[in-house]
Amino acid sequence: MSLSEITTRIEAAAQAHGRDAADITLIAVSKVQPPERVQAVLDEGHRIYGENRVQEAQGRWPAFQEAFDNIHLHLIGPLQTNKARQAIEMFSTIHTVDRPKLATTLARLAQERGGSPEVFVQVNTGEEPQKAGCLPSDADAFIAEVRALDLPLKGLMCIPPVEEEPSLHFALLAKIAARNGLEGLSMGMSSDFETAIGQGATHIRVGSAIFGERDYG
Ligand SMILES: *Cc1c(COP(=O)(O)O)cnc(C)c1O
Repeated sequence: MSLSEITTRIEAAAQAHGRDAADITLIAVSKVQPPERVQAVLDEGHRIYGENRVQEAQGRWPAFQEAFDNIHLHLIGPLQTNKARQAIEMFSTIHTVDRPKLATTLARLAQERGGSPEVFVQVNTGEEPQKAGCLPSDADAFIAEVRALDLPLKGLMCIPPVEEEPSLHFALLAKIAARNGLEGLSMGMSSDFETAIGQGATHIRVGSAIFGERDYG
């Protein structure tokens, strides 16, 4: 796979569902990938990347940001409150706001700084104990709380359980978003982004299909 193949597939999936591909943001998930692979995708002109750890992002992106203009970084992994300050400096969007303490901390830091990244509320649609995200039954109340804090809330994010049909989870996420008047849907990865586009994804997070398999060595 390559970036251009993925963008072709995004366009086809959008067209098949009567959508405009311009309404779908491709986040190239660069976590764990060797720098030369990331550099290659930067050279192809892509500027929106996803990382799941603050520290890893801090280690590699400042140098790329010196070399390339207009890079936008999205945090897609769990965020500890004590890393919130670093996260807010580094990322233009945080997809993993999932609890009041984190939301309150981000709001306070944003106020100090005079600007906040855009945020998504992560929903644990599969109610998996080990997974981050607020429970679907808590989502409406938590969304209201995030709004009351004046954080720029774009939408909702989910990571379906590996063993389950993702479309059920995408549908649940879309339903919670719709009843809360939210347009943004961060859902779909390498194996299911076309399905997610069919169900309204506005942000897809694609890693291995662009960069190749991750080697955790
Ligand atoms: C790693 C990761 C992805 C990308 O996964 P691929 O299967 O490589 O596309 C997407 N979203 C999140 C939250 C991730 O952690």
